[in-house]
Amino acid sequence: MSGIIIVTHDFVRDIKDNQGGSLLKWIDYHAPESVADAVKILADSDGKARPLAGGTDLIVQLRVKDPRVNAETVVDIKKIPELNQMDYDKSGGLTIGAAVPLHLIYNNPDVVKHFPAIIDSASLIGGTPIQGRATLGGNLCNGAPSGDSIPNLVAHKVIATVAGPNGTREIPVEDVCTGPRQTSIDSNELLVSLYFPNPGEGFGANYIRFIPRNEMDIAVAGAGVSVNISNGKFVDGRVCLASVAPKPILVEGASKALVGQPVSDEAIQNAAEAAREAASPISDMRGTAEYRKHLCEVLTRRALNTAVERAGGK
Ligand SMILES: Cc1cc2nc3c(=O)[nH]c(=O)nc-3n(C[C@H](O)[C@H](O)[C@H](O)COP(=O)(O)OP(=O)(O)OC[C@H]3O[C@@H](n4cnc5c(N)ncnc54)[C@H](O)[C@@H]3O)c2cc1C
Repeated sequence: MSGIIIVTHDFVRDIKDNQGGSLLKWIDYHAPESVADAVKILADSDGKARPLAGGTDLIVQLRVKDPRVNAETVVDIKKIPELNQMDYDKSGGLTIGAAVPLHLIYNNPDVVKHFPAIIDSASLIGGTPIQGRATLGGNLCNGAPSGDSIPNLVAHKVIATVAGPNGTREIPVEDVCTGPRQTSIDSNELLVSLYFPNPGEGFGANYIRFIPRNEMDIAVAGAGVSVNISNGKFVDGRVCLASVAPKPILVEGASKALVGQPVSDEAIQNAAEAAREAASPISDMRGTAEYRKHLCEVLTRRALNTAVERAGGK
């Protein structure tokens, strides 16, 4: 075992703060090379270990001593070969390992050709330096209601494969986030990969968000959508919203408004209104609840129009 020190103050390294607390927190660091070893470390740590992917959320949370991240051990997952794979298989599905950084995802030729909408969120999280480290898996497992990739994963009907002491299990991605920064992945489990099923003919998707300024910030609201179109009708449709509820929400009413309907402005508007109704946002410095609900309608309508275009439907 080796160790890293998370420095919690820029200049003072070895003295107590004015409450007598330590300014340093010792964190044990492991870099296992197999899923089994990683799971064993997590399972042996009694809930006090955290997987480390890109670290762009976790390191920040440890540094500010976020009480929700009470980690005494970090398990760096980047040396596990299985978690670094990206495979596009013959049935048309795409598997992205939990440690693959965003820049490798949006530059991957199979993503560009078959799943271009993944790029919508992968290329807007943070900026270039963040995208060199950050992962889709970390964005999902962090469980923030504002996680920009999560609506997109839900729109693509992604299946999460999770490994734990009793083997692996698969979770539809819409069931992963359970509340603010809470997920259904246990502390002794590890997200291994995300599987994007073949969306089939007539598929289009899109993710867009609204931020108040043209700089790095979390979304005031975001909408990830997908459609399948056949013979001028919606045969499938999904809308998932970010930043407007305690967790990203799949809007069932939007699917109902689309499926079976001819591709039309009316059907899209009905789905957008369902999104507005489903949102239960808070008011904060980024926007009022009413403003966020309005954004849900606008973003859903715009994202659906783009998804329809990408599906070749307009
Ligand atoms: C400057 C800056 C800008 C940012 N901008 C955005 C933005 O625009 N949009 C946005 O959504 N986010 C943004 N973020 C947040 C962050 O970059 C993303 O959430 C990123 O995708 C996290 O991925 P990561 O690999 O760095 O996760 P990490 O920090 O490594 O992990 C995040 C959480 O997930 C857990 N975890 C990671 N991998 C696994 C796994 N395989 N199994 C189980 N648990 C796991 C960790 O233990 C931790 O709790 C920003 C962060 C910074 C610092």
